[in-house]
Amino acid sequence: MKKIYLDHAATTQLDQNVLEKMMPYMRNYYGNPSSIYTLGRENKKAIEDSREKIASCFNCKSSEIYFTSCGTESDNWAIKGICSFNKNKGMHIITTNIEHHAVLDTYLYMKKQGFNITIVPVEKNGIIDPAKIEKEIRKDTILISVMFANNEIGTIQPIAQIGAIAKKHSVIFHTDAVQAAGSVEIDVQKMNIDLMSISAHKFYGPKGVGALYIRRGIMIDNLFHGGGQEKTRRAATENISGIVGMAEALKLSVDNMQIYNKHIRTIRDAVKKGIEEKIPYIIFNGDADERLVNNINFCFRFIEGESLILMLDFKGISASSGSACTSGSLDPSHVLLALGLPHEVAHGSLRLTFGRDNSIDDVDYIVDNVAEVVEKLRQMSPLFETFLKEKS
Ligand code: PLP
Repeated sequence: MKKIYLDHAATTQLDQNVLEKMMPYMRNYYGNPSSIYTLGRENKKAIEDSREKIASCFNCKSSEIYFTSCGTESDNWAIKGICSFNKNKGMHIITTNIEHHAVLDTYLYMKKQGFNITIVPVEKNGIIDPAKIEKEIRKDTILISVMFANNEIGTIQPIAQIGAIAKKHSVIFHTDAVQAAGSVEIDVQKMNIDLMSISAHKFYGPKGVGALYIRRGIMIDNLFHGGGQEKTRRAATENISGIVGMAEALKLSVDNMQIYNKHIRTIRDAVKKGIEEKIPYIIFNGDADERLVNNINFCFRFIEGESLILMLDFKGISASSGSACTSGSLDPSHVLLALGLPHEVAHGSLRLTFGRDNSIDDVDYIVDNVAEVVEKLRQMSPLFETFLKEKS
């Protein structure tokens, strides 16, 4: 049976070249980077070279890149760190209703600490209107967080416009770029981004390593207290192989962005066209143009997304219904509800996210199997039967 992985928004396979770069740091170069002898100093250099490489991908200084363990940690640090350092200036924070739970739940936690949150709703196409963000800015607003690209529907937000608004009002601007880094061009200077979260496993790097960009001059509470690593802001012995792997993976992604994106977009568009031609009663979620090249998200009326995922798995296709972090929960995706979809429709969602390892030769197999499974599930649905009777 074919095995086709269509869940690259959940995670990606480690690139072979990245693995090779990482290997020596897993065993041979085992020194602690804080040690002053050669074995330590060499590793310190590998970390600083990686910082430089990552900074060159976002047009920032290497001193503005801080290593973390994942995107969730970066988001938590950015929000909690800014809120707690700046609470004397104000306690109002702004975000959107389609953020990843790593942001939304951190904001809800800050609410319990006494902060006021404004959650601005996106438009029906899954894109935020920057004017609506600006309207919510108050004298006591200290932070705005808007994700760069959404993990479920792939919509890319007008980050440069929001950055300009934040700058105009002297409010700190954080973006969760976990889904965007490596596949969208990001320039933190041009876009006026003050803090930005990334995670290596989303761009063919290793799991368990991420970074937070913190613009020079932005005051933030330290995340961990302990040693002097990351300029004392995030103490802990560094994950050297992970850091080296993340830098290599990001550089490979950014240097080859056009080539990879063209390949992925071609396959994605062919599958989208096939599904739209073959399957009736479907809704395409999110803006058709302003979205990541690898993402399509549909709701198939009268069926349950979970059943769809399990049946596609029997066909060797790995896909997702909602984000990996919320699968297992029976609640429909907050992102799909934010688009105004009713609960029963949001339940029937399918997210396909394509990657470098997919082939155009698999398009027919994917489309045929999605169509077959949807048809089977609808035949078992009493709601679909009623719908057909009422229609005829
Ligand atoms: N933010 C977004 C937009 C994501 O898609 C994810 C993971 O799916 C995260 C944050 C969390 O990243 P990590 O898995 O590295 O903790």
